[in-house]
Amino acid sequence: MIVKPRKIPLSIRKLEALIRRLPPYHPKIPLISEELNKKMAGYKGESSLDFYLGFLDPKQYFIFHDLRLKEDSRFFQIDILIVTKSYLLIIEVKNIAGTIHFDPLFNQLIRIKEGKEIAFPDPLLQVKRHELQLKKWLRKNGLSEMPIHSFVVISHPQTVIRTTPENSLLSQKVMHREALPSRIIQFENSLHTCISEKELKKAIRIIKKQHTELDTSIMDKYNIRKDELIKGVLCKNCLHLPMERQHGTWFCLGCLEKCSHAHKAALNDYRLLISKNITNSQLRDFLEIKSAATATRILHSMNIPYSGMNKGRVYQLDFFDE
Ligand SMILES: [Zn+2]
Repeated sequence: MIVKPRKIPLSIRKLEALIRRLPPYHPKIPLISEELNKKMAGYKGESSLDFYLGFLDPKQYFIFHDLRLKEDSRFFQIDILIVTKSYLLIIEVKNIAGTIHFDPLFNQLIRIKEGKEIAFPDPLLQVKRHELQLKKWLRKNGLSEMPIHSFVVISHPQTVIRTTPENSLLSQKVMHREALPSRIIQFENSLHTCISEKELKKAIRIIKKQHTELDTSIMDKYNIRKDELIKGVLCKNCLHLPMERQHGTWFCLGCLEKCSHAHKAALNDYRLLISKNITNSQLRDFLEIKSAATATRILHSMNIPYSGMNKGRVYQLDFFDE
């Protein structure tokens, strides 16, 4: 079964929000778009494995997507972790098009595409590192020592995988996505260790609980100031900005559409870009509304938890269904 389903990562949602909230000709847009495209390709590559993972018996395989765990003071991120009664499997997904050559001598992955060669970090070293980190993590969290293995899956269907003849063992670790289910089952037949049902449940519970999604400031990353962002409520229908608050609803001067909950998307953008916390006056400023009473009504209508009194009251934003 899928214990931790795949969802669009915060990093992608933040990049999208930033592009939406910057003026179209902002000089940093090309850089941000490039990063977004790269992340989207990775996300799509990982999602493309879902079909193949669907062949695994949900009662025996417990799947975590995009897992981020803390070991010592460092985090490590695993694309896919499969937990079974007899082992843990780390899957690193690479969405690299063209011809890729694994060079065992210098531990590099060379991509050849349109006549150009580029070196990438060796994913085999990366998964080896993750194996060690996960091993330490299991021990620290009082979980049974289980064998940990790893695969590198190439998600791009047209990628050609090559290596040197003496490196033929590579095919035990690196594969195309189609081969994944049969390789997992084949590999499993060679193992004999087994933990109890109780231990398995404990491992699943702790792994799930210890996951921490990366949530750092994208504004700091790109060195963008708050006053560079476009404020206001965006019309979903025609993308006009800002919508106006009229008689308890949002009204678009561009397409004349009305929407009672258009502020939710704007508050999601605020949460993604600026802060998890918002005061009444910050909300008025960002949604471009004048009345404090209207702002209070909006905040209360969404049952947002808060702390503090009166003007010092701070609301804790979560994400709202738009
Ligand atoms: Zn509109």
